[in-house]
Amino acid sequence: MDNASYDAGAIERKRQEEWAAGDAFATPVPGDGRAAVYIKPSSPFTSGKLHMGHVRDYAIGDAYARFRRAQGDAVLFGFGFDAFGLPAEMAAIERGVRPAEWVHECGERMLAQMKRLGFSFDYGRVFYSSDESQYRWSQWLFLTLLEAGLIYRDDTTVDWCDHCRTTLAALQVEDGRCWRCHNEVRLIRRPTWFLRIAPYLEENDKGLETLENWDEISLSTQRYILGRSDGVELELEGDNGKLLVFTPHGASLQAATFVLLSPRHPDIERWASEGDVREQLDRLRSGGWERSARDAKAVPIVDTGTAVRAPWTADPLPVLVSPLVDARYGQTAALGIPAADEADATIAGRVERVELEPTPDDNSGTETEISSLPATRYRASDFSISRQRFWGTPIPVVHCEECGPVPVPEQDLPVVLPPDVEPTGEGNPLAERPDFVDVACPRCGLPAKRETDTLDCHFDALWLWVPSAVPPEARGEEMFTHPDLRRWLPAERLVAGSDSGGFVFDQRVVTKALRDIGPFSFMEAGEPFAGCLFHEMVIADGRKMSKHLGNVIDPDELVERYGADTVRLAILYAAGPAKTLNWNDGALRFASRFLHNVWEYSLQRFASVAEAPEDEEATSDTAFLRDRLRKWSENGLGRIDADVEELQMHKAVRNVTRLFERIQDFEKRVVKRRGALSRADAEAQAEALQQLAEALVPFAPHAGEALLAQAAGLRPAKKTSY
Ligand SMILES: [Zn+2]
Ligand SMILES: [Zn+2]
Repeated sequence: MDNASYDAGAIERKRQEEWAAGDAFATPVPGDGRAAVYIKPSSPFTSGKLHMGHVRDYAIGDAYARFRRAQGDAVLFGFGFDAFGLPAEMAAIERGVRPAEWVHECGERMLAQMKRLGFSFDYGRVFYSSDESQYRWSQWLFLTLLEAGLIYRDDTTVDWCDHCRTTLAALQVEDGRCWRCHNEVRLIRRPTWFLRIAPYLEENDKGLETLENWDEISLSTQRYILGRSDGVELELEGDNGKLLVFTPHGASLQAATFVLLSPRHPDIERWASEGDVREQLDRLRSGGWERSARDAKAVPIVDTGTAVRAPWTADPLPVLVSPLVDARYGQTAALGIPAADEADATIAGRVERVELEPTPDDNSGTETEISSLPATRYRASDFSISRQRFWGTPIPVVHCEECGPVPVPEQDLPVVLPPDVEPTGEGNPLAERPDFVDVACPRCGLPAKRETDTLDCHFDALWLWVPSAVPPEARGEEMFTHPDLRRWLPAERLVAGSDSGGFVFDQRVVTKALRDIGPFSFMEAGEPFAGCLFHEMVIADGRKMSKHLGNVIDPDELVERYGADTVRLAILYAAGPAKTLNWNDGALRFASRFLHNVWEYSLQRFASVAEAPEDEEATSDTAFLRDRLRKWSENGLGRIDADVEELQMHKAVRNVTRLFERIQDFEKRVVKRRGALSRADAEAQAEALQQLAEALVPFAPHAGEALLAQAAGLRPAKKTSY
């Protein structure tokens, strides 16, 4: 390539062809002694197209992956599609196609976009969570956690459409009406499967202190999800036995005027056994309180009519039931202290039997002996993992009238999702397929029925970071036992959107569970990610991008017009990961101008080195400028490396542009002093430009590598493959 003007399209095509031909990003085989670095990008939903948030995520991860490869590390940079779930099912219904066809079509299109953007994934390791070979392991995980007592069945409240005969997710309910038929929906109670996370909350909390390479956003989302409250607990005697109560207001115990019990408290039956109270509790449970549970003014309260006695007052403390406890401290019992707590004051104002102010004790002034102990509560609680949907992992359970729910034996996996179903949004497609539903009970052999709920895609996501670490050909037999897992896990870095906190939290729970059960015993800390970077989203015109607002930025159009390197450089340069990126063309114009300048300037200088005259006097006269250039380069490159190691790519890009300015400045100074560059000056400058190209590779890999290839013609390159 001797054309001096920057033609992004031609440069990028050529590099991409070479990468594909050389299988440049294949995961290195283990055993070569290099450090193993698994970089995990976010797992995209098969939504149809990449959006700018994806580009931001992958541009950060890819820059880091290329940087680590250049350092000589063995890099695994891979992902799989999160392909099950309601949005894909709804899109397929809309188009009248089978969901499997739809997700593969989306996936192929998104992969083509990723390749056009030059992301250095190991594309040979890409997978879809909806493929039979994948979801059989989701089923294995379900059975493994079920056996360990970490999955159980319980009732939950869901929206139901009588007309469509189906349950509805929150996003399918619009103003209380069904998205499909616009009939009013109602709430029903039905049994679903739950994941038990309580046994690992404390460890997930303690683990946060040991996580070194986690940025502040990722840590703070973990803390938010935990919802930790520190306080005291004490046991009170009551009408129905002992009750352990908690409060974060340990100094105001004696001002308590009631006790608030979670509707999910393990002892709830003892405190709400009266017929009338039971009825109220049932109404509360079926009243959809999950959605309003944070508002003390609207949240339902049931007065149980019972009370407990506190050692510091003669007045009994009424026991109330309200989901407000869950929203604050989890499934526990809490002291209501209106004098110390605004929410408690609001509740007290709503219940007749509760006094707003504590009655002054007769013995006021004397010390009352209260034995309370320091205690901690977590708001995070078990959650439902099953849905009445077609497009999900079939739950490997058979319901038998004799034996109850019976797990499908492992050797009978996978329970296959019928591939020929075109869901319509009406009824329950799996329940209507006798060839799916009717089976013999695995335990007693009598006719029985398969579970017709499927797993929510959140469940698939619990282990979506695992398959990339296993060679595709070994995934059938050794998904959770392959020796490579020990090499790659925990992942060195997760790069994900700041809305991924819930996924990450539950992945941390399941890693600990699998450590204790056995397969992940080598991960002693039970942490799937040694490092984690959460980035904020990309918006436009100060608002979230949406078709409705007409402010959607299409990455394809930008790549077509400016080239992939410019788009990548712009998105990295425009804002640090912790900031929401309000997209504007300024960054794009900056990146475009910069790449044009670097390209043309470098090629001209590379081409003219040989023409620069050998001049001994000039050479010694400018020695101090060359020294200064070397120092500038060394410092600049050091800063860029440090920025990339911290995944602060916006700073790194800024330092790349600064280094370029210095190289130009060097030339200006030499020319001012001597009128022209001597051979020694030109060589020093070319060397600096070569180092600049090397530093540019992680952010603008096509242009960076093409420049290096040009420089290699001049002098032996230090590194040739990225
Ligand atoms: Zn309906
Ligand atoms: Zn049976």
